[in-house]
Amino acid sequence: MSTFSGEIIEIPGIAVDNFTNDSVKCFFLSHCHTDHLIGIKDLSNSELPIYTTELSAMILKTQYPDLNVKSIEIGVPTNFELEIDSKHETKFIVTLINGGHCIGSCMFLFQTEEHDILYTGDFRFTLKDVENIQILKDAKIYGKLKIYLDTTFMKNEYKNFPRQKDSCQKVVEIVQNHLGQSQMNKVMLQTSARYGYERLLIQLYEKLNEKIFVANKKVMEQYLMISEISKCITTSKSYSRLHLNTGSEENHDVEKHRENYLKIHLSAMFWTNWNESLPFIYKVEKNNFRVCYATHCSLSEIKDILYYLKPLSIYPTVLPEKSNERTKMFTLIDEIINSYNDKKTETKERFSFKRLKTS
Ligand SMILES: [Zn+2]
Repeated sequence: MSTFSGEIIEIPGIAVDNFTNDSVKCFFLSHCHTDHLIGIKDLSNSELPIYTTELSAMILKTQYPDLNVKSIEIGVPTNFELEIDSKHETKFIVTLINGGHCIGSCMFLFQTEEHDILYTGDFRFTLKDVENIQILKDAKIYGKLKIYLDTTFMKNEYKNFPRQKDSCQKVVEIVQNHLGQSQMNKVMLQTSARYGYERLLIQLYEKLNEKIFVANKKVMEQYLMISEISKCITTSKSYSRLHLNTGSEENHDVEKHRENYLKIHLSAMFWTNWNESLPFIYKVEKNNFRVCYATHCSLSEIKDILYYLKPLSIYPTVLPEKSNERTKMFTLIDEIINSYNDKKTETKERFSFKRLKTS
C-alpha cells in the first residue's frame, strides 16, 4: 500500500498519486488502485488538472465524472511550465512509461535542468524490460537519476516471484482441467486488487474460449469500454463458467455450490521465501487453490534494476508500518546505493514517522 505523500521534493508545485494537497498546480496519477487515489474525490469540480494515461483517464472518468482529467500519450515527452507564485515558476518535461502493473498503469520520468526523476508508481518489470526503454538508458548515462520507488516487496522474504507469464499458464491449466470435468463446473478467480489481472483474462479467453463474468459492476463497465478486454468478458452471469471476483461480491455463490466451484486465489503477499525450485500453487483444501501472481517486482527484480540504473537516491513510496521493518528496508536501500556510490547514504535520516502518517 502506497504511503507516499505525493510530494516530489525536486519539483515544487506538483503532486503524484496523492490528492490531499490542493495548493499544488497540477497532479499526476500512475494508476487507479485506491491507495493511489487518496483525496481525489474532493477534487470533483475543481479546475486542478490530473494527468494520467489514456486508459486510466477513462477508468477515472467512470468513477469521478467531475474531475478535470487530462491524458498524456505514453512515450511522448510533454513540456510543463507552472507559475508557483509571482516570483517562481517550475519548468519540466514529463514522459510516461508503461508500468506493467495493471491496466493503464505508468511510470513518470520528470526531467528538469538539474534532475532526472523517475517515479515508478507500482510496477512489475524485469531488468530486460528496463534495458529496452531508451529514455531510461539515456537517463542512466546522464548520471543524474533519482528514483521514487515502489518498495512493496523490497523485503528479504520476497526475493523471488514466478514470472507473470508462468502464473498465467498455471491458472489456465487448472481452469481447463476443472471445467473439462463437467459442464456444471465453474471457476471463481479471487484477486487481491481490483485491477492487474487483465493479461490473465485475455489468456483465459484466448486459450479456453470461455468468456469471463466480472462480479464488480464498475470494473465490468470499465472493461467493456476497452476493446482488448471487452471481447473476453460477458455480462451474463449464468452463461459464464468463469467468474472474476475482485472483492467479496461472489463468495456466497461459491459457498452455495461448493461441489461445482473451484476457487483460485491469486496473490503475492502469501508467497514468502518462494524460489524457483518450489511450486507456486498451493492446495488449501478440495476445490480451493492459491496461485502466486505478482503485479509488483520481487526484491531480486528491484535490485537488478537499481544496480543497472544506479540512481543517486532512492525514495521508497511504500513503507512498512513497523519501525524495525522500515529500518531493514532503509538498510537494503543504503547497501544498494553504497555499492556503486562513494558518497555514503543513510536513507533513514530522511524519514520520520510523522511524515508517513500524512500520506
Ligand atoms: Zn497498484
